[in-house]
Amino acid sequence: MNIDRLIAYFSMEIALELEMPTYCGGLGILAGDTLRAAADSRLPVAAVSLLYRKGYFRQRLDAAGSQIEESCEWKIEDFLQELPPRTSVIISGRTVHLRAWQYDITGVKGGSVPVYLLDTDLPENSEWDRRITDHLYGGDEWYRLCQEIVMGIGGVRMLRELGHHKLARFHMNEGHASLLAMELLDEEALAAGRNTFNHEDIESVRSKCVFTTHTAVPAGHDVFPLDMVESALGRTEVSEMREIFCCGTGLNMTYLALNLSHYVNGVAKKHTEVSQRMFAGYKIHDVTNGIHAATWVCPSFQRLFDRYIPGWREDNFNLRHALSLPAAEVWDAHAEAKAAFLDRVNRETNAGMEANVLTFGFARRIADYKRADLLLYDLERLKSIARQAGAFQVVFAGKAHPGDAVGRETIRKIFRAIEALKGQVRIAYLTNYDWELARLMTAGVDVWLNTPLPPLEASGTSGMKAAVNGVPSLSILDGWWIEGCIEGTTGWAIGEASRTTDPAQITPYDAASLYEKIEHVVIPLYYNERDRFLDVMRHAIALNGAYFTTQRMLLQYVLSAYF
Ligand SMILES: *Cc1c(COP(=O)(O)O)cnc(C)c1O
Repeated sequence: MNIDRLIAYFSMEIALELEMPTYCGGLGILAGDTLRAAADSRLPVAAVSLLYRKGYFRQRLDAAGSQIEESCEWKIEDFLQELPPRTSVIISGRTVHLRAWQYDITGVKGGSVPVYLLDTDLPENSEWDRRITDHLYGGDEWYRLCQEIVMGIGGVRMLRELGHHKLARFHMNEGHASLLAMELLDEEALAAGRNTFNHEDIESVRSKCVFTTHTAVPAGHDVFPLDMVESALGRTEVSEMREIFCCGTGLNMTYLALNLSHYVNGVAKKHTEVSQRMFAGYKIHDVTNGIHAATWVCPSFQRLFDRYIPGWREDNFNLRHALSLPAAEVWDAHAEAKAAFLDRVNRETNAGMEANVLTFGFARRIADYKRADLLLYDLERLKSIARQAGAFQVVFAGKAHPGDAVGRETIRKIFRAIEALKGQVRIAYLTNYDWELARLMTAGVDVWLNTPLPPLEASGTSGMKAAVNGVPSLSILDGWWIEGCIEGTTGWAIGEASRTTDPAQITPYDAASLYEKIEHVVIPLYYNERDRFLDVMRHAIALNGAYFTTQRMLLQYVLSAYF
């Protein structure tokens, strides 16, 4: 049965299944978790993204920590169903034909959300055009623009071909999808019998569009040179209607989305403040990100919740009852997750990690502002903490973008620290951080570490995955953690909010604060006051696991952005 869909959700990446390389990191996981929550609550959503025959990349690391990228191959037919309709877009005067493959997300109550993945690999297309939908975040600026034309313009056309005529809202998950608004403008004009759009059309499109901005880093916003855009699209409105399309010298996809959406939001309260300053003149709302609880709770905690908190999957707010879970059973559930994770660590790296030793986890994209190496700022200090306060071990994981020389060097630096600390602090680096590893790791460490340079972490979601598994965070006060941290109750803060943003000043200060917390708060609590540590674990689930979910997030979108 094809129920009428009212909301179209567009995202450059969507994590759908462990074996499908249709995502790179946090943005794609968030998109998948959002759609899984939509399916759970039977919200009439349809989603659009690209197929990515070659995915992002598989990471290998040599003995020195140098990253080697391998392309992912996967059998599309094993996961997706090809749909009969075809549509096309014009790029540089050529017709690029498109098809779509369908994936259905099924919710806890049997609802479903269709996801349409667009594919240009058709024999009618030129060899170059056939590769447009192959690589996620690969290729140059021109390649990226072509992908955004296929997703934005081609995506709307494909939805129409598939019979979705009642769509009332178009949600752009980040600016990559902004060109969908241009197609909607054309639709308005066509419906009115005109061949150019006017200000009424713009108002009408604005009433349909919702835009979520995800990055606090200015370089994270796509800007395409105007001549490139005009040569790709073959139309002149872009430079004629500067107030809609342009800011400065190029087509800025973020401003396009801002200008053509009636509701714009940041992904945490702090990020909304930062975005509001960056985009003064636009009203930015806040909807803090979440995770899909049933996807991220590990098997042992699923069993525990099923026993004591029935209905937690259908209504995640029930997780507030985690405060009354028996401490011994929480510890056992955690021990099972930890054993499964350390087993993988030891098999993969021979690190010899031990189950009774306090274990920290750090895993995310290795981008400079994420400061993966903050913990390794002073190796002598780390050794002395391990000698004097108590043993601890650390597991790192994360991919650097292939073009990010600084990120690649950060991984080598961590490898050098692992050597330097041998025999004193056990540290391991796991390769190819992906959805599967993230599941094992966020549930299987004792404390989740996050040390970005504030205020650049828009939200961060891995700490939320940890929380719902009873793993508290030790984190810089930035992104979601400003909202989630109750000191000593749900975890611990590093540094203070709103200090200077000069890395040279702030990094030594944050490192010192991190060492203080590990030495004087976390280690003593873990080894000497296990009951209080278990209280923190239960509060992490009850206060943060229950709240930082895509179910709550989607409810906010429904109430304030969609209808
Ligand atoms: C959750 C997740 C991320 C995002 O984590 P952050 O906390 O936002 O850095 C990235 N990659 C994978 C594989 C994830 O599961």
